[in-house]
Amino acid sequence: MRFIVATHNYKKLKELSRILKPLGIDAVTDIEIGAKLEEVEETGTSFEENAFIKAQSACKQSGLPAIADDSGLEVDALGGEPGVHSARYAGDNATDADRNLKLLAKMASVPEDKRTARFISAICCVFPNGDKVTAGGECDGRIGYEPVGENGFGYDPLFIVASGHSYAELTIEDKDIISHRGNALRLFAVKLQSYLEGHTQNCP
Ligand code: IMP
Repeated sequence: MRFIVATHNYKKLKELSRILKPLGIDAVTDIEIGAKLEEVEETGTSFEENAFIKAQSACKQSGLPAIADDSGLEVDALGGEPGVHSARYAGDNATDADRNLKLLAKMASVPEDKRTARFISAICCVFPNGDKVTAGGECDGRIGYEPVGENGFGYDPLFIVASGHSYAELTIEDKDIISHRGNALRLFAVKLQSYLEGHTQNCP
């Protein structure tokens, strides 16, 4: 079965596809099927709600089952900010570097033991019949003092994991093994499999 991935974030798309492929999930982009998904406003107050909004819109537009990820960074010392506002934390036209600078400025006086944070990923798949399969994943870490590493995207250079490296210092394979998105997608693959098996059994 073919799924459309509901995102315009190219780097996120690459992560999603490379994690889903070995799990046996054939995920295509709107461009690959000659379509253009309209951007949908993320009006939800949780990652789960926003993932549903994106998946439902992509499913309606394409007629295919659609998979969406909504994700972000929750920093304890900032009361969970940037949270669902991670993508637009420094305004609409800001870059990853702008967002990282803003986060560093807000964390300037926060001591080491209070710099805890976590990345969250909520995955939602919506089927044309309205059914949905969801899964979530997290990765704990802390916020560094300056950007470190060249890989990845977004807040990766500031997010320090248990090994002491930033997400941006990890190879893509190592990031996928521990990342919020890797954890969410592996769980999603299991839940999708069991949904599809049940679905097949219910067919006449
Ligand atoms: P959205 O899920 O497209 O609304 O955006 C999530 C935002 O959270 C991204 O634009 C990034 O700023 C941030 N984010 C999500 N996942 C990651 C990640 O794996 N590394 C770094 N930043 C991330």
